[in-house]
Amino acid sequence: MQDDMTNEKKPKKIKIPRIKIAQQKPEVRINNFNEVELGYTEEEALTESSRCLMCKKPRCIDGCPVEIDIKGFIALINEKEYKKALEKIREKNALPGVCGRVCPQEDQCEKVCILGIKDDPVAIGKLERFVADSEKEKQYGITSLESKHEERINTGKEKIKTAVIGSGPAGLTCAGELARLGYAVTIFEALHRAGGVLVYGIPEFRLPKAIVQQEVDFVKSLGVDLKLNMIVGKTYTIDELLDSGYKSIFVGTGAGLPYFMGIPGENFNGVYSANEYLTRVNLMKAYLFPKWDTPVIKGNIVSVVGGGNVALDSARTAKRLGAKKVYIIYRRSEVEMPGRIEEIHHAIEEGIEMVFLTNPVQLLGGKGWVKKVKCIRMELGEPDDSGRRRPVPIKDSEYEIDTDIVVIAIGQGPNPVLMQTSSDIILNKRGNIAADESGKTSKKGVFAGGDIVTGTATVILAMGAGRTAAIAMDDYIKTGKW
Ligand code: FAD
Ligand code: SF4
Repeated sequence: MQDDMTNEKKPKKIKIPRIKIAQQKPEVRINNFNEVELGYTEEEALTESSRCLMCKKPRCIDGCPVEIDIKGFIALINEKEYKKALEKIREKNALPGVCGRVCPQEDQCEKVCILGIKDDPVAIGKLERFVADSEKEKQYGITSLESKHEERINTGKEKIKTAVIGSGPAGLTCAGELARLGYAVTIFEALHRAGGVLVYGIPEFRLPKAIVQQEVDFVKSLGVDLKLNMIVGKTYTIDELLDSGYKSIFVGTGAGLPYFMGIPGENFNGVYSANEYLTRVNLMKAYLFPKWDTPVIKGNIVSVVGGGNVALDSARTAKRLGAKKVYIIYRRSEVEMPGRIEEIHHAIEEGIEMVFLTNPVQLLGGKGWVKKVKCIRMELGEPDDSGRRRPVPIKDSEYEIDTDIVVIAIGQGPNPVLMQTSSDIILNKRGNIAADESGKTSKKGVFAGGDIVTGTATVILAMGAGRTAAIAMDDYIKTGKW
């Protein structure tokens, strides 16, 4: 650590505190679905970027799962070269507007930023977002990556067909990389809109759909063909795609199948999986019902079960739909909550009530509708496989919480539709696709990555897997070696 410090340029004499980002006030934002954080102004971004020490050995880059040249793009912000800064990020990351908003930077690049040791780290994510958002405002036109695509045409590789199944962060990244490597790429997406969880799961107030669309459009501009409403496993099978000339296939179908708790009462009306709840509100715009077609049940008291980003998003959505009381019921304590720290703070600011060390054991109802959550209090025991302390029920501590709606956000698994017609792709014990580090599966020519392999993880890890697989697919197509 000391070595790194001595290698650095002389730190600036005036210590500038990390620039806070403007936000909608909690009492205002709980009444709308607009983005909570408003983004840096140019002046704020320039001040924040000037805090970077331009380390000789930038630890931030090692902390980034896709190794963005963070120091490089921050230097370009300092020079007001925003288009070049965007191109620098896009060398490694096709979704900067998304990552700048939802990546857990506090556990990655910002966690290891040298400034974070004594002070606040550089706000790398907020700067990434600033650069991505500057494109819309400044209308850059064709960037160097898109023009390179033009150069690649007529190299011969563009006649080699590759397929990507699923247009979430894993699929979009894999497709973008394959296009940059020169291949003809087609994405097959089951839904009517591309983006995966970015459009059907993460709410508008954290990640506007227009931002996702802008990044999908960028991937398309690299020459990727996007086919929507195509369920692989139904419309085509993987074998049919291989037989029709796709030389290699990437499966990035995510973990879209919700888990339930398996307790009595989950079949009452008013009980949603978070997946259905969020899809109705986000993708199908139920918050604009009846202007939009899809309804959603609203209630005065909403109980959300779980402690991750999905639970936080569901609870904050319920608040915006008008619920007077929203509980997050989580079986561990705040320390073990897997959701992003920033989002936990936002949820508390918005009045979400955290009910820690508590687990539902039964849902009680009347006339077919859920009315109460019967819970048991928990205490923390020894660490389990995940390293977190295991929650243990406290005997005779049951109690009931009145509720109108229950949203279950305890995790998701792989949707079985694709695998039902591809029995030669081996699954692991958890039902996810078994793949090696490069994404190679048990089926020749077929790679996989993202949540379908790891279970629900993060956007950036899914993107990293997509990128790694694209490189391995290129190698496989060139050498034929499996
Ligand atoms: P997905 O994003 O799930 O995309 C898979 C795509 O494949 C979907 O579009 C799906 O329709 C399509 N598909 C599925 N089956 C088929 C088929 N048979 N044929 C064709 N297409 C198919 N991560 C973070 O880093 N930060 C966050 O703040 C964060 N918040 C989250 C909030 C919620 C509500 C959820 C659910 C997840 C969140 N995550 C977050 C996790 C992150 O979104 C996922 O890890 C990531 O989206 C996984 O990417 P993926 O490409 O593997 O899968
Ligand atoms: Fe160094 Fe932090 Fe700047 Fe990276 S962001 S170069 S670690 S000061």
